Amino acid sequence: MDKKCICQETQRHFLNRAFERLKLKETQRELLLSSFRETRITVPVTLRHNGEDVLHTFQGYRVQYNHARGPFKGGLRFHPDVNLGEIRALAQLMTWKTALVDIPFGGAKGGVAVDPQQLNDMEREALSRRFCQKMAPIIGVHDDIPAPDIGTNPQVMAWMLDEYSKTHGFRTAIVTGKPVELGGSAGRLEATGYGVAHLAHKVAEEMSLIPAQSRVVIQGFGNVGSHAAIGLASKGYKIIALSDVNGGVMNETGISIDHALAHVAESGTLTGLSGTAPVSNIDLLELPCEILVPAALEATITCDNADAIQAGLVVEAANMPITHQADERLQQRGIVIVPDLLANVGGVLASYYEWVQNLQQFPWDRETVLSRLESRLCHTYDAVTILANERQIDLRGAAYELAIRRVDHAVRLRGF
Ligand code: NAD
Repeated sequence: MDKKCICQETQRHFLNRAFERLKLKETQRELLLSSFRETRITVPVTLRHNGEDVLHTFQGYRVQYNHARGPFKGGLRFHPDVNLGEIRALAQLMTWKTALVDIPFGGAKGGVAVDPQQLNDMEREALSRRFCQKMAPIIGVHDDIPAPDIGTNPQVMAWMLDEYSKTHGFRTAIVTGKPVELGGSAGRLEATGYGVAHLAHKVAEEMSLIPAQSRVVIQGFGNVGSHAAIGLASKGYKIIALSDVNGGVMNETGISIDHALAHVAESGTLTGLSGTAPVSNIDLLELPCEILVPAALEATITCDNADAIQAGLVVEAANMPITHQADERLQQRGIVIVPDLLANVGGVLASYYEWVQNLQQFPWDRETVLSRLESRLCHTYDAVTILANERQIDLRGAAYELAIRRVDHAVRLRGF
């Protein structure tokens, strides 16, 4: 089974478990498992090939999953494997995430099946603008607010903002994750990793872990992994191993994150970081440590390696890094798991703060953004742990129940 199918199966498993516990009727489940609107568009763009202009027609999608609690919200990805099933699953996940942190948004996701590495800047701009033109009738500041995701970035959001503003007037709140100069929020870039570090620390404290004596292993040193590393190192944790797509590096006495960041800025990879020994991405997950942070890909902890995991606390910075069968095995061994739904929600929270600042035309400074983020994350974590204790279930089960209950309640109130 490929990774996408494994993830969809894992998500279905966690959802069904929550539906059972909530005793939702079949009709209600069917409504919650259906997307509100699925739009497929063609995105024609002229690309330069061997000195010739050639017209390419790409497939684009926007799934607006549920808007019972507020405007649709979710990222836009440019990736060759994008398809409707994947976008639908991600739009659904966004619905639970916005509900869990209790922000007034629903869930959506969009994508174009294209390899952005094959496009030059002009072609990427043309693709972004054409996608925005075609989606303009269904997006809106109070209707659906896209954001960056895999293969897109603040520049893509800037092009979309400009395109949308040509026909609607200057509307900074139409996208989030923009450059700060165009209304983007201070703190947005680091928000997801910052939130991961904040929650990891909170749970570690409850487990009576002492930062200086706690070894941390992080898989993935991109946006989320690097900012989680910065956050945990600043709290005094000992980061003993890091990795990227090329492999990992380790040092049992600790790795300086500043040194690692400087090395990556210079060479583009962690490989060869001085003062460290190489370790494969597979072995890295099985290193003896107190905290493991998978921050790269989905389905990296499966039945094949679950029994070899040595960490006492696993914080899911990536989306769905643990399959449901592996989750069961880790739970049986008493390993605490902070689920993705909760652990990586800092990004969507900061997006919400960006939208609020845009609507108010009143920018906040970085400290304000991050302190509001911390307090909302703590509040959410407390609500999840209270429910988990009350019902004697794990954090993932409680997070799903809380989120589904909120969406279901809003759906009923509105009479969908
Ligand atoms: P990124 O592209 O910035 O970084 C990904 C990192 O993973 C890179 O260091 C890359 O080299 C590494 N990687 C890629 N393939 C790998 C492999 N086979 N083995 C080990 N490492 C590998 O991406 P990101 O924004 O940091 O996102 C990481 C994860 O977090 C993804 O699952 C993403 O969906 C999730 N996530 C991100 C955000 C966000 O705000 N960026 C929010 C929520 C969830």
